[in-house]
Amino acid sequence: MVDVDGGQVGDLFAFTADDPGEYASASHTRPSTGRLFPRPGQNVLTNLRRPILELVEDNSPGYHDTLYAACDAARYRSLGVDAPHRSCAQNLGESIAALGLPGVVVPQPLNVFMDVRVDSDGEMSSRPASSGAGDHLIFRALLDCYVILSSCPMDIVPISSGGITALAIDVDDQLSTGTAPLRGSAPGGELQPSSRMTA
Ligand SMILES: [Zn+2]
Repeated sequence: MVDVDGGQVGDLFAFTADDPGEYASASHTRPSTGRLFPRPGQNVLTNLRRPILELVEDNSPGYHDTLYAACDAARYRSLGVDAPHRSCAQNLGESIAALGLPGVVVPQPLNVFMDVRVDSDGEMSSRPASSGAGDHLIFRALLDCYVILSSCPMDIVPISSGGITALAIDVDDQLSTGTAPLRGSAPGGELQPSSRMTA
């Protein structure tokens, strides 16, 4: 997963191919990793606490929030936005529909490149993403799964820097099947590519 221009937050979702009711869950991952930000070598768990993705490589500053829910229409309304505003929940819903999967709850995503920190008193603060152009994360699929990455369109709270920009996904099957890698990207705030990854 590539932050093409840098400074862009993304909401990462993954659903098992066999059962969309089992999905990557940041809140189930935290007790396993014991960290707010997963590190290379650690696994993302599903809501059934099975490893679904392994974080293999991270050349970004390493901040990938696990605390914030995906932005949705109610979030924007609470921030004073009266007009319709695209959200990660909407991006997820449209991607799920395009895949022909049944509707699902919005899981607690892994918010890639999103910098939310907690001080010693428990105060949370979000900072503009510090990832640079071309920073990337490499995940290995540990279960057959659908992976959906929403380039977060949040432009009210400054969690992305330099405007809303694209994220890209390269799917590299060479490790398991020897086929050529695929690449997809989409402008920020629009429907993002979805990829089925084979473990
Ligand atoms: Zn969002």
